[in-house]
Amino acid sequence: MTAIIHQFAVGADNLGVLIHDPATGATASIDAGDEAPILAALGHKGWRLTDILVTHHHSDHIAALSSLKARFSARVVAPRADLHRIPDVNMAVGEGDHFKVGSFDFVTMETPGHTSGHVSFYSADQKLLFAGDTLFSLGCGRLFEGNASQMWTSLSRLAGLPDDTKLYCGHEYTLSNAKFAIKHDPDNSALRARISEAEALRAKGAFTLPSTIGREKETNPFLRAAEPALAASVGLTGHAPVEVFAALREAKNKS
Ligand code: ZN
Ligand code: FE
Repeated sequence: MTAIIHQFAVGADNLGVLIHDPATGATASIDAGDEAPILAALGHKGWRLTDILVTHHHSDHIAALSSLKARFSARVVAPRADLHRIPDVNMAVGEGDHFKVGSFDFVTMETPGHTSGHVSFYSADQKLLFAGDTLFSLGCGRLFEGNASQMWTSLSRLAGLPDDTKLYCGHEYTLSNAKFAIKHDPDNSALRARISEAEALRAKGAFTLPSTIGREKETNPFLRAAEPALAASVGLTGHAPVEVFAALREAKNKS
């Protein structure tokens, strides 16, 4: 059985995602930033919410958590490290913890950097990764609570998943990320192709997500910090990838 995924806009630039198991009727929302669009999406699909999978504590990811949980008696799965700042958690998870949404198995990966407690959810069977604000298409999350070394480790682990893993994330930032990416990796033809595709998708109101891990490895500057071209772009030829990553993240903050 294959998971049915429905993606929709939440607020200005957050991406909502519902995962549905037709065999059991189970439906999970990845994060819960705003109630109205999530209710609308559930109504549109005729699905009933059973689970909410929380990636991290930022309000654009949890503001509607309590109200949605109360409305549907949904189970809330959230990072154990953030129990003091995420309400209404039923199941606290950390690295390697498995859980099911209907018949689909997910494993928790701790991916700190954007926040200290950030987790990503991966289903090997379904080839699905929900990376929250850790990995975006052509970008990565800002380092609010973690350091560059933590984030580089987190991103490297996500990059180690199979190339055909579908990447879903918390925000539609691809085109704004593209400006920075092409400046630092101008000779990358895969990146040029991805930007053209993303422009066409956005022009017709479509999302640029999901991406794939394979595609991000070819195009995302933050996953390409070990490439000589990216090191050269920040004046760090010959330096360790983590140093190149840190410099790229700094440069992006200032861009
Ligand atoms: Zn965030
Ligand atoms: Fe966010």
